[in-house]
Amino acid sequence: MSEELFKKYEEMAQEDWPEDLGLWKNLFLGNIALAKENLAKGMPYTPIPELQLEMFARIARARMRGKPIVMYPFNYGPELFYAMNVEPFMQEVFSVGLAPFHLNEPYIDLANQMGYGDNPTICNAQRPLIATYTRGDAPKSDLLFYLSTPCNSLATTYQVYSHMTGVPAFTLDIPYWSYDPSSEFYDEKTVDYVIRQLKDLVSWLEGRTNQKFHEEKFQETMNLVNQARENVMEFNDLLKAVPCPVNSLNGFANFMIMAFSGGTPDAVRMTKWMRDYAKGNAEKGVGGVPDEKIRIAWPYTHVFFDSQLFPWIEETFNAVVIMDILGHYHVGPHDTSNLDKCFESLALGTLDYSMIDTCRGPAEYYIDYLLRFVNDYKIDCVVMPIQFACKHIYAITNLAAEAVRREAGLPVLVFGCDPYDSREVPSEEIRGKIEEFITEIVM
Ligand code: SF4
Repeated sequence: MSEELFKKYEEMAQEDWPEDLGLWKNLFLGNIALAKENLAKGMPYTPIPELQLEMFARIARARMRGKPIVMYPFNYGPELFYAMNVEPFMQEVFSVGLAPFHLNEPYIDLANQMGYGDNPTICNAQRPLIATYTRGDAPKSDLLFYLSTPCNSLATTYQVYSHMTGVPAFTLDIPYWSYDPSSEFYDEKTVDYVIRQLKDLVSWLEGRTNQKFHEEKFQETMNLVNQARENVMEFNDLLKAVPCPVNSLNGFANFMIMAFSGGTPDAVRMTKWMRDYAKGNAEKGVGGVPDEKIRIAWPYTHVFFDSQLFPWIEETFNAVVIMDILGHYHVGPHDTSNLDKCFESLALGTLDYSMIDTCRGPAEYYIDYLLRFVNDYKIDCVVMPIQFACKHIYAITNLAAEAVRREAGLPVLVFGCDPYDSREVPSEEIRGKIEEFITEIVM
């Protein structure tokens, strides 16, 4: 990022923002400071700081200009919202984005006091939203969209939020589904079922904003999504190289790009940058982690409160975490030659979105995914942090770990922690478990 860009955002932060954006502005300033610090430390350029800062800025701009904002969760691409000129706001940027600064923890405590769930029942990825809203600290949105997957926890919090705020909500149902016609979960009507819901979403958005659906704009947006998907799929393949051509945090970049900006020219530009960067390193045999010795699969989310965990793993063990489950966005490009195909591409992208594809079915979907991943990416060991609130994955963790040990012959570490709350299992304890596992079992 250039000094000029920092200056632009710092000037913007000087402006008067609506009252509910106070905490949002603090996060914006925190991210500017972090990006500047990383630049000063000589950390290699990636487009991610620019992506993040622009995302904070566009929500503020939309609020100040009265542009309708739709809140949506991390497991959906914003392309339809861009196509309809409604500002997409991926909510977890806020409720999870507070975690590295520990700013979410007072709100987790407040949610406890309010009696809104507790960590074993409702995930802290979204729970702070309820408490921040009651304090007037959550960014306002005009509309809410969420899906029935990947978890009941997410769907519960958004339902509660909608009831508390009166913000109209649209829910999209994701059924169990397999691509394989011989599977008991295959149903030829599934894609049409999702398409019908997406068309209902279009009418719902039209009815609640002053925006209209334009076929050409939608097709143009879906073309851009699919160009970006092509870049991401090439990037994913490049990470199979030994050494892995990018570091442990870079693998998360494409997920962020697609989740914040899918369907925009920026997403095409940034995914292309990531692809070219990985390709350049792979061709030269350069690893994202110098002298790579261990390749780790991390089939769950990051430990979001500890942004230094992956760099610590890299420096201490010369180990690379290839991609976490969210970072592994693997929706291939589709035909977008006409309107029907564009809707089909949107529906398939929804069914196959990061985490949804592994959670829209029985345990075997997740286990098969993990076995494929450890094989494709030449993995040496698997590390799985897990929390009880994430019931659908918690329930299958040991089954998956056993399958990896038995079928791939690889060591697996499973440990409990709340990825959003540093007080439940602190960083030192997590690092201790990883250190013991790597030094005594993997090496
Ligand atoms: S971590 Fe699990 S429970 Fe929490 S939002 Fe993600 S999928 Fe849902």
